[in-house]
Amino acid sequence: MAPPRACALCQTARPIVRRPKTGQQVCKDCFFHVFETEVHNTITSASLFKRGDRVAIGASGGKDSTVLAHVMKVLNDRYDYGLELYLLSIDEGITGYRDDSLESVKRNQQEYGLPLKILSYDELYGWTMDAIVEQVGRKNNCTFCGVFRRQALDRGAAALNVDHIVTGHNADDIAETVLMNIMRGDIARLGRCTLICTQGEDSIKRSKPFKYAYEKEIVMYAYFKKLDYFSTECIYSPDAYRGHARVFLKDLEAARPSAIIDIIHSGEAFQVADQVALKAQQTCKRCGYMSSNDLCKACTLLESLEKGMGQLATGDRNRRRLDGEPAPENMRTIPMFQRSTPAEPIADP
Ligand code: SF4
Ligand code: ZN
Repeated sequence: MAPPRACALCQTARPIVRRPKTGQQVCKDCFFHVFETEVHNTITSASLFKRGDRVAIGASGGKDSTVLAHVMKVLNDRYDYGLELYLLSIDEGITGYRDDSLESVKRNQQEYGLPLKILSYDELYGWTMDAIVEQVGRKNNCTFCGVFRRQALDRGAAALNVDHIVTGHNADDIAETVLMNIMRGDIARLGRCTLICTQGEDSIKRSKPFKYAYEKEIVMYAYFKKLDYFSTECIYSPDAYRGHARVFLKDLEAARPSAIIDIIHSGEAFQVADQVALKAQQTCKRCGYMSSNDLCKACTLLESLEKGMGQLATGDRNRRRLDGEPAPENMRTIPMFQRSTPAEPIADP
């Protein structure tokens, strides 16, 4: 009888998983080690951090950001990066979803002993996603959510006085975004969406240490490490277009696992195309956030909501901009930084 095959990496222990990324049969310890080492290599080859950086981990309570928080802590200790780590969570105000997932974040915060800041759409904008969906319906809700989240993360980062935000976007997310930008013919976004780190003048850096980590391996890592995360999808999730890209990508991956990385590399080859002149930056007349127009994207959307015209705000690309009005009482006016790229309506990491 043939003896059980040994782990492809250590050649001794019994293999228990087949790595989705490479097909290698590996033991649990080698899987942890190779996964963590690949993230470390991604971080060091892109020189993402320098000693003393204050880094906020965007923590949603989902699998990606929960594994990211765990791995960032492991690597910071193992390789002595010298980072000060924080957890930063955004409460979109989605009953039955974010309220539950934030409980996972709070438990992880206890376990890892990292400081946690939670900011809500309600306190920042005076609107919850529940209220927005009530007005705009379920078609364009993710556009509102994406614009608001991006600005909320910047405001949270400013409040924590951090230099850098890391998010749990994984290789599958990035490959999906590449496909969506190709299907929409959005070459400018195609050129940007594979960047591991984005930053404009004076702005906070945002980066994606899981750029090359496969979603399936993140799930395996969370499972074998018994991490505490919330696995339910957002109840307002159907971003139909991304859904199609996701299904297509999973089919490609089933036929050839390297498809995910190959698509990211294809997207990277387009980066030269992204030399479109950026509009001069000014500050939003309503909230003070950096903006290339009188009103920032979030305030433009807020005004449309306040006028009961939320449905129109995302549909008409050539819509007339609304004039600035004084900020309402509930609008926090934390000084803001310039952002490097326009907000992308990207699904929740
Ligand atoms: Fe917001 Fe994500 Fe839910 Fe869309 S799927 S409403 S972006 S949390
Ligand atoms: Zn604004």
